[in-house]
Amino acid sequence: MKKRILLLSMLITSVCIILFLIASVQINYGATVKENENALSVYMNSYDRGKFPTNSDGAKSFSQSLNGARVTFIDGYGDVLADSETTELENHADRAEIIAALKGGEGYDVRNSKTLGRNMIYYCRRIDDNLLVRIALPTPSEWSLLGQLLPTAVVYLAVDLFLCMLLAALLTHFIVEPIKTLAYTASRDGDVKTKYKELQPIADILNERNLSIRKQITTLEEEKSLVEKAQNTKDTFIQNVTHEMNTPLTAIRGYAELMAVGALDGEQSKKAADTIIRQSDRLSGLVTCIIRYSEIDSEGLPSEDVNVASLVNEMAEALAADAEKAQVTLKADVRDELVVNANRELVTEVVGNLMRNAIRYNKEGGSVNITLEDKKLTVADTGVGISEENINRVFDRFFTVDKSHCGKNGGFGLGLAVVKKICNKYGWHIEVVSKLGVGSAFTVSFR
Ligand code: ADP
Repeated sequence: MKKRILLLSMLITSVCIILFLIASVQINYGATVKENENALSVYMNSYDRGKFPTNSDGAKSFSQSLNGARVTFIDGYGDVLADSETTELENHADRAEIIAALKGGEGYDVRNSKTLGRNMIYYCRRIDDNLLVRIALPTPSEWSLLGQLLPTAVVYLAVDLFLCMLLAALLTHFIVEPIKTLAYTASRDGDVKTKYKELQPIADILNERNLSIRKQITTLEEEKSLVEKAQNTKDTFIQNVTHEMNTPLTAIRGYAELMAVGALDGEQSKKAADTIIRQSDRLSGLVTCIIRYSEIDSEGLPSEDVNVASLVNEMAEALAADAEKAQVTLKADVRDELVVNANRELVTEVVGNLMRNAIRYNKEGGSVNITLEDKKLTVADTGVGISEENINRVFDRFFTVDKSHCGKNGGFGLGLAVVKKICNKYGWHIEVVSKLGVGSAFTVSFR
């Protein structure tokens, strides 16, 4: 950059200096010629025909009276009668000053004298038809003037070079420094500001870039944490599934081994076989649950208009026996007609899971109350309730309050997770309010 500024400034200033030099030469030359023309005209006024005869002596003595100016006498045909400097007396009729003098009485010309080999200014005056007097003075040519001015020009060029170098260094410093500051601030992720309005677009671009980079980083970090979360969820899911599968498998294998070695008597064998059957059912129940859970995501599930009120009533009828067995009163007050467009099996799953849980986690003599109003289905029970500590976790996969799996309920903790997933799929909202020992109420808002 410094080199470019130096070269450019040198080029511009050198061209200026050279143009100035040429102009000076021309002005100077013009002024000198004018001055000499005036001098020659004044010299000529001192010519006296009687005093200076038209021979070589006359020419020389007139020349002396004019401080050595060249004097030539010429007749009306251009033939040279006498010359103060030379004896070569060729015809001068073709010289410009002679032609002009013959025509108009006087004439000037400036040229390189062939006779003397110098640049001369000539002035010729017609005295009468037979006599023309010409006087001439050496005058500097344009080249000799240029030669005189050249040393000064070289000094100017040297000074110019120095000034240009200084200018290049200063400009580079003043231009590059603010840009360096911008780049430094941008690299530090700071807010890029500048007091120079010419650099404002760069500052704006840098700020925009930094902002978009920051946004991209945030997005990437969010995506990364989502991927990590998904990976963790997957790992936890696999761990839970493995754990849930191992428990019945261990029991089955244990009893089967005992039976194989004949270690059990008739009564014990029967008990073992019962356990094996029960655990096998549990295992296949788990597999069914997992398959159902993963099927919720499936895109191809058919949708239809499902009447929620009828579905609740059907479910209440189907679960009446279970409720009776558990000594729980089941009451469905669903006069509201609510139709939702969804997969019938999934809606059944939501209603069924909530109602089964309300019966399952109830007390002897307790009740289950189902209402449907204002697009909200509430399944309330007077059961065991959920502690504050657990209430936020009941929708987690494999979460069960009773971890032993040996209690009378022995669920896998997937029921409410399935309900939540179905609600999320259709944009429904589910919430629970509960008090330990008093009861729970699960509400699904079909919006
Ligand atoms: P599961 O019933 O198979 O254990 P769920 O996901 O349906 O799994 O329920 C998770 C846990 O939430 C249950 O283990 C139970 O402790 C608790 N829970 C669910 N519904 C109720 C309810 N109506 N009353 C009290 N606790 C409940």
